[in-house]
Amino acid sequence: MRVANLNGRATIVTDAGLIDVERASNGAFTHDVDRLISCIDDLAAWFETTSPSVTESLRPQEVLRDPHLGPVVTTPSQIFAIGVNYRAHAAEMGLTPPVTPMVFTKFASALAGANAIIPVPSSSTDWEAELVVVVGKRGRHIPVETALSYVAGYCVGQDFSDRDLQLRGTPAQFSLGKSHKNFAPVGPWITTRDEIADPNDLRVTCDVNGHRFQDSTTGDMVFSVPELIAYLSSICELQPGDLIFTGSPHGVGQGQHPPVFLKSGDLIETAISGLGSIRNVAYDK
Ligand code: ZN
Repeated sequence: MRVANLNGRATIVTDAGLIDVERASNGAFTHDVDRLISCIDDLAAWFETTSPSVTESLRPQEVLRDPHLGPVVTTPSQIFAIGVNYRAHAAEMGLTPPVTPMVFTKFASALAGANAIIPVPSSSTDWEAELVVVVGKRGRHIPVETALSYVAGYCVGQDFSDRDLQLRGTPAQFSLGKSHKNFAPVGPWITTRDEIADPNDLRVTCDVNGHRFQDSTTGDMVFSVPELIAYLSSICELQPGDLIFTGSPHGVGQGQHPPVFLKSGDLIETAISGLGSIRNVAYDK
């Protein structure tokens, strides 16, 4: 099942069209995407058993053009992001893969819909295509073995990064450098975890102006999705709706020779197999 945030309302996206969750369920399920997350398994079961009728004829490929497409959640209690979590990305940055996950946050005010326009705040604004995990259940000290049962679903994300700000000073400013306006587009919808057999077997691509800069697989992660959930929950209590940006594969702008950064008018297209794609245009702020 795919659940988008359209016009501020939780909306199931099917190949035949859209289903407004609250209206189709006669109020049994909320229109509020944030509150819906903790009962997304019940929603999936209801969807399977009742096969509700389409309430709007918009097709999945048209959803991404809808100007009212919002982020898959809007008020997560925590947004985690993982740095240097792909082996080939570590190599292109001249870094050794970390022995424990390198964690920072993207502040929630940076969240944006999948087709958001991205203000470019500096001449060192970069892209990072990322698998984003949407947490479905509260949990502490979650074992690796059961970690995926705490996942509501997955979506495509971009960890846009202002490299100058990110790396300014000692220690560096990762969280600020990745939290400018619209620096965290996520979507186009949540794909529930039952549709993704292995989150560490997904192809991730990122094209800028039609040129493919990133083409990798989540199998290159240093720490797998279950390992990240176990590690983060050993310190922070995870909450429904929390997001985990799981790191970027190689092929970021800073890894090019010479480096390539975003400028006004650039089109950034990010896709993950099974999850769809997001599409962002950069512009001068
Ligand atoms: Zn990142």
